[in-house]
Amino acid sequence: MDRFDAVLVGGGIMSATLGTLLKHVEPSWKIAIIERLPGIGEESSNAWNNAGTGHSALCELNYTPQKDDGSIAIDSAVSVNEQFQVSRQFWSWLVEEGVIPQPSSFISPSPHMSFVWGEDNVRFLRARFEALKDHPLFVGLEYSEDPLVIAEWAPLLIDGRAKGEALAATRFVEGTDVDFGSLSRQLIDYLAQSTATVYSETTVTALRRSKSGWKVSLRPEVGFTPEVIETPFVFVGAGGMSLNLLQRSGIKEIRGYGGFPVSGVWVRCDNPDVARHHQAKVYGKASVGAPPMSVPHLDTRLVDGSESVLFGPYAGFTPKFLKNGSWFDLFASIRWHNLIPLLAVAAGNFSLVRYLVGEVFASRAKKLQALWDFYPRPTRMIGTSRPPDSASR
Ligand SMILES: Cc1cc2nc3c(=O)[nH]c(=O)nc-3n(C[C@H](O)[C@H](O)[C@H](O)COP(=O)(O)OP(=O)(O)OC[C@H]3O[C@@H](n4cnc5c(N)ncnc54)[C@H](O)[C@@H]3O)c2cc1C
Repeated sequence: MDRFDAVLVGGGIMSATLGTLLKHVEPSWKIAIIERLPGIGEESSNAWNNAGTGHSALCELNYTPQKDDGSIAIDSAVSVNEQFQVSRQFWSWLVEEGVIPQPSSFISPSPHMSFVWGEDNVRFLRARFEALKDHPLFVGLEYSEDPLVIAEWAPLLIDGRAKGEALAATRFVEGTDVDFGSLSRQLIDYLAQSTATVYSETTVTALRRSKSGWKVSLRPEVGFTPEVIETPFVFVGAGGMSLNLLQRSGIKEIRGYGGFPVSGVWVRCDNPDVARHHQAKVYGKASVGAPPMSVPHLDTRLVDGSESVLFGPYAGFTPKFLKNGSWFDLFASIRWHNLIPLLAVAAGNFSLVRYLVGEVFASRAKKLQALWDFYPRPTRMIGTSRPPDSASR
């Protein structure tokens, strides 16, 4: 039986980051990275499966909730931003060390904007700006209620709007767009050149305690000859499948945890004329009851050197916990100890449930209307007579 000092399950950004840190604090360790797909960073970390905002709370309004007295709580925004600065320091160091030769291969500058309409939302954004603008991490945050200024920042948001509509935006020019898929691939390639053994197309099917730590059962997707490896430390970085794997490990800490069958769906536009006119990540305000992941945003994405515009995410329903998962993932995760917490979450968050049901059954026209609320006149900017529902999904 092969022995490793640490086994990292999953080839996404979490295992890639932890593996890189381990290599530097314990350079002599033998590490195994197990990934069930043929490629690295192909699930949530893939650039097309997330927004690449690299959460820094510069534009995401859910990090600055309004308190009952009307003031704005900034604690979450500050702590999220601090964490992102630590990530940036870590990435800068990796570039200095030559681990990542070209930072532009995974991170690019992209202004972060928040954009709202309606008197109440404008008041909220103004108060948020006042609360953040003097904090050292947010110095440089700009605010405007002037459509001409906002049009300079992001023209697609303004063209076609009624005169006199109450609008406001903030902008932080030093925001970023991050390709976590590319970063995962580069870090895991780097690890594979030294201390790590990467098992691709190999699924971890079980984790069992042994005298010296853990026995990790592997099933290669080609050949199907099972194998067991041993290690004192296992990191479960299996994304959506972490829940099921941790349940099967028998650890008691997983009791009470469950997964909700919610996914995110994007509208994607690769038309270079549109992308040229939109050079920012623009976040709006979530509908009442909407989960933070479904805050609507119109984003510039730079993937493999090409620019696109992404809008979403729309909440969807799926019992799969991974894009390449099984239709039975949700049902396989239900245990007596998480059934009551799951039902309690649903019962205690009626507005969330109502929002999700409404989204899942929303017509294509209603979904596109959410996009046109951000981008009211799609045909004018790109100079064509295409109907407004021609964005590709
Ligand atoms: C709609 C949406 C938008 C998002 N937007 C942002 C954003 O703007 N900014 C941001 O910072 N984050 C964002 N995120 C979150 C971010 O994408 C994830 O937090 C991150 O990619 C998770 O990385 P991971 O390594 O944990 O999981 P993953 O990237 O999913 O990797 C897990 C890996 O484990 C593998 N695996 C699973 N089971 C097994 C098994 N049994 N054996 C072997 N391998 C296994 C999978 O194949 C996969 O490759 C967003 C997420 C979503 C869904």
